[in-house]
Order: sequence, then structure tokens, then C-alpha cells
Amino acid sequence: MKVLKFGGTSVGTVESLRNVKSIVEGQEEPVIVVVSALGGITDQLINTARLAAQGDISYLDNYARIVERHHQVIEGIVPQALQLDLLSMVNPLLEELGNIYRGISLIKDLSDRTLDIVVSYGERLSSVIISKIIDGAIHLDSRNFIKTEKQWNKHVLDNDTTQRLVHGIFDDLKYDVVIVPGFITSDNAGDVTNLGRGGSDYTAAILAAALDAKVLEIWTDVDGFMTADPRVISNALIIDHLSFTEAMELCNFGAKVIYPPTIYPVFHKNIPIYIKNTFNPTAPGTCISEQHPSPEGKAIKGISSINDTCLITVQGLGMVGVIGINSRIFNALAKNGISVFLVSQAASENNTSFAVRNGDADHALEVLREEFNAELQSGTLSEITAEHNLATVAIVGENMKHTTGIAGKLFNTLGRNGISVIACAQGASETNISFVIELKDLRKALNVIHDSFFLSDT
Ligand code: ADP
Ligand code: ASP
Ligand code: MG
Repeated sequence: MKVLKFGGTSVGTVESLRNVKSIVEGQEEPVIVVVSALGGITDQLINTARLAAQGDISYLDNYARIVERHHQVIEGIVPQALQLDLLSMVNPLLEELGNIYRGISLIKDLSDRTLDIVVSYGERLSSVIISKIIDGAIHLDSRNFIKTEKQWNKHVLDNDTTQRLVHGIFDDLKYDVVIVPGFITSDNAGDVTNLGRGGSDYTAAILAAALDAKVLEIWTDVDGFMTADPRVISNALIIDHLSFTEAMELCNFGAKVIYPPTIYPVFHKNIPIYIKNTFNPTAPGTCISEQHPSPEGKAIKGISSINDTCLITVQGLGMVGVIGINSRIFNALAKNGISVFLVSQAASENNTSFAVRNGDADHALEVLREEFNAELQSGTLSEITAEHNLATVAIVGENMKHTTGIAGKLFNTLGRNGISVIACAQGASETNISFVIELKDLRKALNVIHDSFFLSDT
């Protein structure tokens, strides 16, 4: 059995849905097919809800466009004989959505819970439509078997309940093709929740791991995982093979092609992931699997970046040699659900810097100033500062550990191009070197590093 996931880019238009149909119907073994909302619909659902909550009557035009888009796809691809039956399922969903928008516009309030309900219609609609265009497909609703629980105020997978429910449904099911909506889930109270933006990849990985699939295929709009974001680096190259660790490092640092939590469930079961192009299905794509890097392989596999970076620095000469400062910093942040994605401390110990998303920065400052109030008063700590408008770049490759001179080459390239590095970090596993620069230097930094590691012989 295989699990195939088609993203919004693959289910956006009548033409792309024809490709999806032929790829799925061409499979020689049973498949579970996880689908996203029609491309762009999730954003439209959210924007329309916001307009309604502001009392802006143009939400009605937006809603009409959402309805129109689904009807057009149905008319364009679903055989005439099946259209009425399908519309009898799709129209009540669209009507419900319209009523919810009307409710939001009347009370002018949009809670997180309501927004979770609104966005769920994207995948609910697309999965019902796609199951009608694929011969012999069964439709199952993931809200019945993928469950979330609340942690740090976020919905996270409730793995035990999910495993039990997935086995309960699939173990005795006879199928050639099952269509499942990605992204959407429900909690113990039965309320609709989701796995976060981009979460359909994760839905597919959860099912692949729970049911011991032979392979997980992520079908998207590029020929594979690339050495850098192709929208920024036009000559980025396709990577044939990545280890799970390399893929995890790259997507954690912004390679949008896979949603980061996707890797772990399949890594844990040693199930390979293939990244394939719906618009070019014969291209080999990228294989992500366990591998032991050969010392001759390339030292760097890819480069990724996060432009939403704020660097917070806790400093003071009084920190030197004092035990427990870092533990207090990270405990205070964790208790407040603030995630840190890069940490740097020099051996002199008189400052610790770490990177958070800009949206978390004010909260982080508040929490730390409270935690270290006494030290700030006494002068043990001189200040806690936040630097905005930064970006973080990571170069990734398991073979770095067998190769000397990578950091030298990296910082030389940046220096020669007048880009200054504000903070940097390399873990002892030596699979990733990350550094923080000014946001205005990001595009140039990615270009010069990509040229230096992938396009020049030196
Ligand atoms: P889907 O709708 O299929 O989930 P996404 O838009 O989420 O597609 O992800 C695919 C996009 O990820 C590609 O179109 C590409 O622009 C972007 N991307 C960013 N970094 C990379 C990378 N390193 N390799 C390939 N694609 C990347
Ligand atoms: N439709 C959701 C989103 O746009 C989930 C996904 O496509 O993976 O984020
Ligand atoms: Mg995606």
C-alpha cells in the first residue's frame, strides 16, 4: 500500500486534476490519497472570514468567488452523469459556509475556533469532489480518525487516539483508492481542528506510518527537493537523494516543499518519502530515506532560510560563570509557548543570543524582563535587547562532518560579498551551520552561497 498526497498546487485547476486522476488510476496497488484544498482556497477562506468580521460587505463577493470556483471545477472535470449527485453533497457544504460567514458578519467576531471551522471547508469540499472524479474511490473524513489535543495553547496530534482510530477504520477495509482530506482533524470534544498551515503533508505521513505504507509520495509542482528555494534561486538544482536528517533540517528552516512535522512519523517507521511533480510525473523526483553518506558525496545538500527572524540577546558581565542563567531563559520562554530556533553563546558567557519569530519577540522580552527583574536592577545583567529585520540561513548536509573547510568557505564567501554575520550556530552533529544576517542581505547571501557551493568547482 502507498500513500499519495496532492497539494493545493496539484488540485488547483481542471488541467491539474486531470493529471491527478491519471496518476492515481495508474497505480498498481491500493493507495490512500490525501488531498489539500483547491490551490489558494485556504487563504481565500481566511480572508473572507476576516472581511466578514470587520463588517465589510465585500465578504459576499469573496464568498461568491469561492462558490463559483468549486462549481467551475465540477463542471470542468466531473462527468455530467455524476454532477447532480456530487452537487447534492457540495452545495449543502457551501450553503453552511455561507451561513457561517453571515453569522460572523452579524456578530463581528472571529474566534480561533470559528476560523478552524471556516478553513476546514477547503479540504472537505476538495476531497468530496476528487473522490467523484477517480474511478472506484472511497471517501473517508479524516476528522473521524485524526485527533488533536491542546498543548501550550496549540492543537497537536493526539497520537494514541489517532493510531487506535486509524486501525479501527482501515484494518478491515477493502479498497483500491481511498480519498482523505488533508490538514483537518478534530479534538476530543468533536470540534473541528487542524494540523497547521501546510498540514496535509503531515496527515499523509501520519497515515503512512500508522498503516506501514511501502512509501509516501508527496506530489507537488516542482521536480523534487531543490538545493534552494526555486522562487529565490532560479538555477537551483534537483537533489536526487536526502537522508531523513537532511530533509528535516532543510524543511525546519523554511524549505516549504514539506511541512516540518511530516518527516518524523515516517522516519520512525523507516518509510521512504518521494517528492514528485504532478505536472511532470515521469521525472524521478527526490527520494528521502535512511542512508549513510558516502565520504565522496557532496558536503552540502541544500540551503534554506527563514526571513521572519528576531534576535534576542541577554547580556551582562555578571553572567560570566553563573550557573543556571540559560536554564532560566529557556524555561521562561517554554512556559509561555515561545519557540526558539537558533541559539548562540560564546565561551566568554557574557551573552546568550537566540532567534525567535518577530511575532513572538515582544512577548519574549516581557517574559525575560520579568524573570530577570532582580538581575537587571542590580546590574548583573546589563540589558535584554531585540534586533528585528533579520533573516536566518542554514546550509545542510550530513557529509559536512567528513569535510574540512566548509565553515571557512561559507564565511569567506559572505565576507567577500560584504555580508556581515550577526550570530551563528553549529551543532556538534555537524549537519547544519546556521547564521543570522540582515534581512536586506538575504537574497544576495542565498545567491552567493548557492553559486559557491553548487555552481563553482572551487
Ligand atoms: P503544495 O501545494 O503541493 O503543498 P507548496 O507550495 O506547499 O506546495 O510547496 C511547494 C513549493 O515549495 C514549490 O513550488 C517551491 O516554490 C517551494 N520551495 C521552497 N523551497 C523549496 C526547495 N528547497 N525545493 C523545492 N521547492 C521548494
Ligand atoms: N490547505 C491547507 C493550507 O493551505 C493545508 C495544506 O494545503 O497542506 O495550509
Ligand atoms: Mg505544502
